[in-house]
Amino acid sequence: MRRKLAAGNWKMNGTLAGLDMLADVAAAMDSTRAEAVICPPAPYLLPAVTKAQGTPVGIGAQDCHAEPKGAFTGDISASMIKEVGATYVILGHSERRDAYGETDADVAAKAQAAWDAGLTAIICIGESEADRSSGTTLDVIAEQLAGSLPDGCTGENTVVAYEPIWAIGTGKIPTLDQIVEVHDFIRATLAERFGTDVSDALRLLYGGSVKPDNAAEIFKVDNVDGALIGGASLRAADFVPILQALS
Ligand code: 13P
Repeated sequence: MRRKLAAGNWKMNGTLAGLDMLADVAAAMDSTRAEAVICPPAPYLLPAVTKAQGTPVGIGAQDCHAEPKGAFTGDISASMIKEVGATYVILGHSERRDAYGETDADVAAKAQAAWDAGLTAIICIGESEADRSSGTTLDVIAEQLAGSLPDGCTGENTVVAYEPIWAIGTGKIPTLDQIVEVHDFIRATLAERFGTDVSDALRLLYGGSVKPDNAAEIFKVDNVDGALIGGASLRAADFVPILQALS
């Protein structure tokens, strides 16, 4: 049985005071079997871990460097994230692929670094609007999966997030049929490469404009094990109903 997961990606949003929402998320976890993880900006990682201490809420980072340490001004290592008590790291988000030119190989190297440090990597993949309209969505997904996931992928060290770029922050979501098609394809592709034990255990999240009013519908899809949530993860009033829709 895969444990459902609601992961919040704050991106470069939120405030220190906004971490108070963690208490409400923790309270909501009393009545759900689902797991909740919040990924705030790097300066808030330690305060977030401190606030979440003694609760089941997990904390994650939004990126890490592939090297364990060195002269990489502005970057943070996987072991630093682990040292402050976070347990997850989002990797290969389309905003990083787009704005920083991150390639599949870069993402795979970061995933390896995350695993080496004992973190679970939430690896993001997803097609652009142009890919979708030219009918190459599944080819793009196959290529990103092949390139971004290192050998050694397991249900414990990895979560895959399918985020169609055109659905991020736009209020547009794919049809349920489109979500079913891509998630089934991801599961089958993982089975082919890593075997069914791994693919059956590995959680697949949907991301892109998930809100309290559309979450329940999306979560009905068999191969959707939760969501990676952007805007609606900043406030408990939005995030908690999404978390609750998972149970
Ligand atoms: P929104 O939920 O704001 O569309 O963002 C999705 C996302 O990019 C999560 O990583």
